[in-house]
Amino acid sequence: MSDTYLNLVNSGFTKKVAKQLGLPQPAPLRRYRPGQPLLEGAVLVVGRGTDADAVAALLSGPWDLEVHRNPEPDVRYAAVVLALTQVEHPTDLTAPVLAAAGVLKSLTKGARVVTLSRSSVPDDAPAVAAARQGVDGLLRSLAKELRGGSTGNGIVLEAGVGVEAPSVVGALRFFLSTRSAFVDGQLLTVSSEAGSLPGSWERPLEGRVAVVTGAARGIGASIADTLARDGATVVAVDMPAAGEHMTAVANRVRGTALQLDVTAPDAGERILEHALARHGRLDIVIHNAGITRDKLLANMTPEKWDPVLAVNITAQLRINEALLTSGDFTDAPRIVSLASTSGIAGNRGQTNYAASKGGVIGMVRATAPLLEAFGGTANAVAPGFIETDMTARIPAVTRQVARRLNSLQQGGQPVDVAETVAFLASPAAGGVVGRVLRVCGQNMVGQ
Ligand code: NAD
Repeated sequence: MSDTYLNLVNSGFTKKVAKQLGLPQPAPLRRYRPGQPLLEGAVLVVGRGTDADAVAALLSGPWDLEVHRNPEPDVRYAAVVLALTQVEHPTDLTAPVLAAAGVLKSLTKGARVVTLSRSSVPDDAPAVAAARQGVDGLLRSLAKELRGGSTGNGIVLEAGVGVEAPSVVGALRFFLSTRSAFVDGQLLTVSSEAGSLPGSWERPLEGRVAVVTGAARGIGASIADTLARDGATVVAVDMPAAGEHMTAVANRVRGTALQLDVTAPDAGERILEHALARHGRLDIVIHNAGITRDKLLANMTPEKWDPVLAVNITAQLRINEALLTSGDFTDAPRIVSLASTSGIAGNRGQTNYAASKGGVIGMVRATAPLLEAFGGTANAVAPGFIETDMTARIPAVTRQVARRLNSLQQGGQPVDVAETVAFLASPAAGGVVGRVLRVCGQNMVGQ
């Protein structure tokens, strides 16, 4: 799906006119290509203490980046990392934040700002809690100020999690890289030191077998491509009616196809049976199949309500139950479910859809503890406006407006959701449990 406005405001005469009229100026986003350097330019690490030192050492050592601890004149930074895990009072924020402020006007296009902080809990001294929670507000506001396709995201460490924990390192790499092009203004909490760093950052899913439902088109097809690119063997699942497209996807990723309606009572058993028979194991399940049947609640009918809940949430619950009781889904398994910002913020005409997607968020939170004993996780990804067949059906004017209602002033691409799914499915994300990561360009709606 193409965004004509984005193309117009980035070319020649129309670019000038848009600027003069003060119209939104969405910047083309850089997306990930294998082999691409992690950052094209230096990174400024601000903050003092052992954690800041450890982060700087990681970036300059294994990741081979040019790291500065103090802003240097005439350098255009590609990233700024604010290491704020050791702040104890809001005034501790002043020096690092103002140091970062000094370089914001000269960031490279598509730069990255990442905060590292600790979650505030009721046991904290009030000043400590204020400083920690202050980082959340700071990050969300800063992300709204960045331009040129730059993003700001934060990693929040729970008690006992060190900055070198696999999921902190994995999340830092994800947020710095172009894989997170459309993730903006988000704070991802790391709960534990579980997980492991991949042998290769380019192929983190090597040796893993992944099932993707609704893989024939749109976001699901992109997830299949992305997981395969990252090394996974992919089973593409979709309705029998989507057979031809699904086979094309399965062939493209050198995986296998399974024609299956996910609402079938034995869907979980059939998925497991197929994965074990064809590939010998099952490690990752991506619940992506989803439908909309929009109607105001006052006009709602069982025909519009029932299928949305059946596909978007009941099927996921039933499949998970089958996997969890099978004894064959126990080697650091990963479940990633597609939620939606509608399930968080609500959306007029989508009570059925939002009930199902809010349901997904509750489900992953309650499913994650059931998987923890096997080093497994369940998480959700909540896309905002993504350019797919689903959003192409939105009336043209509403669609134009919806695209601009986020800090990046454009819709995301299916691959943006897929990259986030791939990160949560990766070994490094083992300490991210029961969370929702939004892929919405920092949509103005919701928390
Ligand atoms: P899409 O309509 O383009 O594709 C959905 C796929 O799911 C289709 O291939 C369809 O055949 C398949 N499917 C539907 N019912 C199925 C069933 N019962 N069994 C098996 N397969 C089934 O949708 P999309 O835009 O790619 O969305 C993918 C997911 O992302 C959905 O869960 C959707 O709710 C979610 N999402 C999308 C957006 C967006 O902006 N496009 C925003 C938020 C959330």
